[in-house]
Amino acid sequence: MKYEAVIGLEVHAQMLTDTKIFCGCSTKFGSEPNTQTCPVCIGMPGVLPVLNKKALEFAIKTGLATNCNISTFSRFARKNYFYPDLPKGYQISQYELPICEHGFIEITSEGNAKKIGITRIHMEEDAGKNIHEGNGNYSYVDLNRAGVPLMEIVSEPDIRTPLEAVEYMKKLRTILRYLGVCDGNMEQGSLRCDANVSVRHKGEKELGTKVEIKNINSFKFVEKALEYEIKRQIKVIEDGGRIIQETRLWDSDKGITESMRGKEEAHDYRYFPEPDLVPIIIAEEWLNKIKKTLPELPDIKRNRFIKTYGITESDAELLTSEKSLAEWFEDAVTSGGNPKLVANWIKGDLLRILNEENKTIEQCPIKPSQLAGMLKLLEDGTISGKIAKTVFEDIYKTGKDAAVIVKEKGLVQITNTDEIEKAVDEVLLKNPDEVERYKSGDKKLLGFFVGQIMKITRGKANPQLVNEILNKKLS
Ligand code: ADP
Ligand code: ZN
Ligand code: MG
Repeated sequence: MKYEAVIGLEVHAQMLTDTKIFCGCSTKFGSEPNTQTCPVCIGMPGVLPVLNKKALEFAIKTGLATNCNISTFSRFARKNYFYPDLPKGYQISQYELPICEHGFIEITSEGNAKKIGITRIHMEEDAGKNIHEGNGNYSYVDLNRAGVPLMEIVSEPDIRTPLEAVEYMKKLRTILRYLGVCDGNMEQGSLRCDANVSVRHKGEKELGTKVEIKNINSFKFVEKALEYEIKRQIKVIEDGGRIIQETRLWDSDKGITESMRGKEEAHDYRYFPEPDLVPIIIAEEWLNKIKKTLPELPDIKRNRFIKTYGITESDAELLTSEKSLAEWFEDAVTSGGNPKLVANWIKGDLLRILNEENKTIEQCPIKPSQLAGMLKLLEDGTISGKIAKTVFEDIYKTGKDAAVIVKEKGLVQITNTDEIEKAVDEVLLKNPDEVERYKSGDKKLLGFFVGQIMKITRGKANPQLVNEILNKKLS
């Protein structure tokens, strides 16, 4: 462990605007190729781009939520390169004057809070897509994506481990989703990540030579690609070699990174200010208006949940990982649910069943107030913990309230000692061998007796009373 890694991420986030960044074409995903195009986004000569105000607002919101300075004066630049999916021969991006700079995101790293600097956030247009499968020996170009608004969020080289990189990505994704500016779908490519990584001897101040890894499209691959690349670089150095600055591609099938191009083949983008768009000057009034629309952000919500509801940090972290989940939790608590119980049921049964049924919390058929209602029956002893589980499943399936289900199915907990005593006697009488073994020291059999009693009472017997009565009878 003589080495430490230094990591900086460049994240591209597709913005959730209805229309493209410089024209009125739709940004909808998955339509027939080239049905969402116009002279502006296919790069016809003589047309002029006009900035989508919503895209600008989304970038500003993201900057505010990540503690950035919002530039009152910024502008677009042309990034020149030649590729078939880029009809104009340049991408409109921002260069020396981006919209947001000097921010940070807080992550939790091995239980401690850590700030990861945000160097800059800039706006740019997405390129089209080359399609190499299909008819014959042709390649095709789909320009539906050309001109879809993107934000590029560049971090400082403050990240030290693959796990921190994942934490950073997750936190960034959560923030983007809270703001409603990006859906964060890594599989569909609306959130993409290039990872820069170098290694150096521990304690050293200088940065090592960095390698850029492209083509990372899941949290798992962020971790795997970085782990692989860090090991590879350490081995090169240990073997007496030197790291060369290059771009490498992550191959998720092989689990390795492979060289794509070296420094010599790096593009010279010949950036220059975009002459077809006026500079952006942000009025303070508008900025203040935007500030007022920001939602309560995940870190603040998490801390409030811990303080107000007395739930654990890890529960609060989980519940605030999605805004909709946090709202569901708070709705259940407002309807009278005990916060700790609500948290337990959400992270246990509720998330399990939603996961099994491939549903999001928005599609959950149980209403928050229905969980709260069931928990009240559990807390006042009307139903046992075991019965609660089946009632919960029934609410999910039928949409009926817990009280109705309990009444219809006769699931009220048995707290009548006579009735429980009868069940205990019955079980002990039926299992004389086990009783013998228990009395001669095999205390593990207690669980067996409890199980049998629960079986004949159909799970309705109060467990404390069962234990009490059993112990009395067996001693
Ligand atoms: P480039 O000019 O190649 O785009 P930048 O300096 O703009 O490089 O940095 C791009 C990304 O690489 C940033 O996220 C930054 O934090 C990260 N980075 C820069 N230098 C290093 C390094 N030596 N090791 C790891 N990451 C680095
Ligand atoms: Zn268009
Ligand atoms: Mg750079």
